Amino acid sequence: MHSSNDNPRQGSSHSQVLIIGGGNAGISLAARLKRYRVTGIAVVDPSEQHQYQPFFSHIAGGTAKAESAVRAQESVMPKGVTWHRDSATAIDPAAKTVALASGRSLTYEHLVVCPGIQKNWDGIPGLQDAYDSPYGATNYSLDLAVKAWRLLSNLRSGTAIFTMPDGPITCGGAAQKPMYLACDYWRSQGVLDNIRVILAVPTQTVYGVDVVDQELNRKIAEYGIELRCSTELTAVDADNRTATLRNNAHGTEEQLRYDVLHAAPPQSAPDWISATGLADDDGFVAVDKKTLRHITHQTVWSLGDAAGTPNSKSGAALRQQTKVLAKNIKAVLKGGGPSRKYNGYGACPFTVSRSTVVLAEFDDTLTPKPSVPGWKGLAKEKRLTWLVERYGFIRLYWYAILKGRA
Ligand SMILES: Cc1cc2nc3c(=O)[nH]c(=O)nc-3n(C[C@H](O)[C@H](O)[C@H](O)COP(=O)(O)OP(=O)(O)OC[C@H]3O[C@@H](n4cnc5c(N)ncnc54)[C@H](O)[C@@H]3O)c2cc1C
Repeated sequence: MHSSNDNPRQGSSHSQVLIIGGGNAGISLAARLKRYRVTGIAVVDPSEQHQYQPFFSHIAGGTAKAESAVRAQESVMPKGVTWHRDSATAIDPAAKTVALASGRSLTYEHLVVCPGIQKNWDGIPGLQDAYDSPYGATNYSLDLAVKAWRLLSNLRSGTAIFTMPDGPITCGGAAQKPMYLACDYWRSQGVLDNIRVILAVPTQTVYGVDVVDQELNRKIAEYGIELRCSTELTAVDADNRTATLRNNAHGTEEQLRYDVLHAAPPQSAPDWISATGLADDDGFVAVDKKTLRHITHQTVWSLGDAAGTPNSKSGAALRQQTKVLAKNIKAVLKGGGPSRKYNGYGACPFTVSRSTVVLAEFDDTLTPKPSVPGWKGLAKEKRLTWLVERYGFIRLYWYAILKGRA
């Protein structure tokens, strides 16, 4: 429908708004701009599939099937938006051009850079070997999430290690979610007491938001999980099924044999962004954290996981960013200024059992920011938030967020 082969406007390599990345951010933004009657929008993305990544945790924890998290990219591309099925490889912000892997070059009036975060599968010595072995998995890719549930559901005794890497990460709490789902499952099967469960996080507390930490610590005690804070996975010996965990606070290391290793991979800004001249010190797109406009190039914008903003990277954060950015671009196209401001909101729903969720909501200083102001109730374990997170959000995603309506 809107592919490079049969879209009549595909011939045009010029866009009023060119969006790099057709993930959660790119499609939501394109749809919202369309609703605001902005014309000449194009999305660059090589992927034929669109994935709802928050469901990867449910898939790894056995509370959802893989099919539910995937749709054809073509089916979510907003009508009238040109889709370049290609990868961006370089940006020249002075010339206002984007180079593509195919060798083509595109020009734009405004550019939105949102290609997500890069997962560094071999970012820890031995990690890729662990994923390739029969004992390693993660919810950070669809295939490995499917494998994770196979491994976790078959475990009857032994050691399961769950790790979160240091550094930037998308939805950091996701590293823990399949663990709680698995513990609840093991408990229902009467085998939880036979399984040693270890959680290693690089942060000083289990998550970093007080009210949420209290709830998570309660669940950790309930399931008998061994929590290692200030700790990260530094090496894996996949042949001997041994993980090295380093405690950064004490400078100590321990080597643990595992039966299942569920390790979130280290993540970083996409490598190619650093060569564009648009990156901050960490390689992410250097935008103003409120207006989401590039700090020096007025026609460049960013949102989502690739944006160099201090909020916790999540779909919940970029949902707010999308509204701000769409309004700001629209205002600038009309000759005004970017007056809308993102408030740093982010959220992470912790699936602490197979029927309850603790919803962490906070801003970019980790101060709680409940959606019902003044009420911290959603940060407590609740059945209601499970129903909303497991059944409501995914519908909201496919039918409203990606349509620019929520
Ligand atoms: C396991 C897991 C659980 C999560 N759970 C939650 C949750 O419960 N709640 C929540 O709010 N958030 C959650 N998130 C985070 C949320 O999914 C991300 O924040 C969100 O998807 C980021 O959107 P994005 O558009 O920036 O990146 P993505 O959605 O990752 O999209 C990036 C797009 O860019 C494309 N692309 C990449 N490179 C290029 C290139 N060079 N040229 C063109 N296109 C390119 C890709 O093909 C992709 O389509 C979770 C993430 C994971 C991995």
